[in-house]
Amino acid sequence: MTAIIESPEQWQNIRRELKGKIGLVPTMGALHAGHASLLKKCREENEIAVLSLFVNPTQFDDTKDLKNYPKTFDADLKMANDIGIDYLFFPEANALYPDNYTYRLNENTFSRELCGRHRPGHFDGVLTIVMKLLLLIRPHQAYFGEKDYQQYVLIKNMAEAFFLDTKIIPCPIIREPDGLAMSSRNVRLTAEQRKLAPKFPIALTRKPGNSHEIRRELEAYGFMVDYIEEREGRRFGAVRLGEVRLIDNVKIG
Ligand code: AMP
Repeated sequence: MTAIIESPEQWQNIRRELKGKIGLVPTMGALHAGHASLLKKCREENEIAVLSLFVNPTQFDDTKDLKNYPKTFDADLKMANDIGIDYLFFPEANALYPDNYTYRLNENTFSRELCGRHRPGHFDGVLTIVMKLLLLIRPHQAYFGEKDYQQYVLIKNMAEAFFLDTKIIPCPIIREPDGLAMSSRNVRLTAEQRKLAPKFPIALTRKPGNSHEIRRELEAYGFMVDYIEEREGRRFGAVRLGEVRLIDNVKIG
């Protein structure tokens, strides 16, 4: 049975007694098969598997998006149980910000590009919460999805920059059968938007094609395009369908 831990203090008491390799999967809940793949890997590679579920307010630049973020606690707990996760860390909204976010971490180069350019403060919120979770949970390994590739790179580099004792492990993108990357936000797409959504990964993957052509193609379908950019052998994109923002990336070349 997965044990639910609700406060940092409760976890710290347990953590002192734990022996063996600890793995952590940080999430915001509304779990799907993408999260399940991280949880299974974490379960396989560690003696103690921890899932954290915290809808982190500081990483939302859009209050509507925060308010509408899907919540499916019972199903999330069932997934954790089925996979054999030992601990579900599920803190109160304010428990992780005793300082009211007066202390925060920022990175001043890569975090300003791609998603960072379109979501001011987003990566400050992400890096701050991940640092808090890594210092609190003290895992030997932590798992992050390549769906949020920029996030993965920023976290990996942060762990190196601050000599953290946690190995940051990337996990491949899990997709729907039609190619759409799984995301908690996909349930907010209307039936019509959901039908259109797979054009996004198809366009990103299409070869030949440069960023400019791909942008024009997606705009013609009715997507609002935040960016399509290539760097380091990957093509990154972010688009919006109505209020729902989708991100994705593919290896190229
Ligand atoms: P989130 O709950 O959206 O913050 O995601 C928690 C973790 O799951 C992050 O490391 C994400 O990159 C990862 N993740 C979310 N969706 C997918 C997916 N479709 N494939 C692989 N990893 C994912």
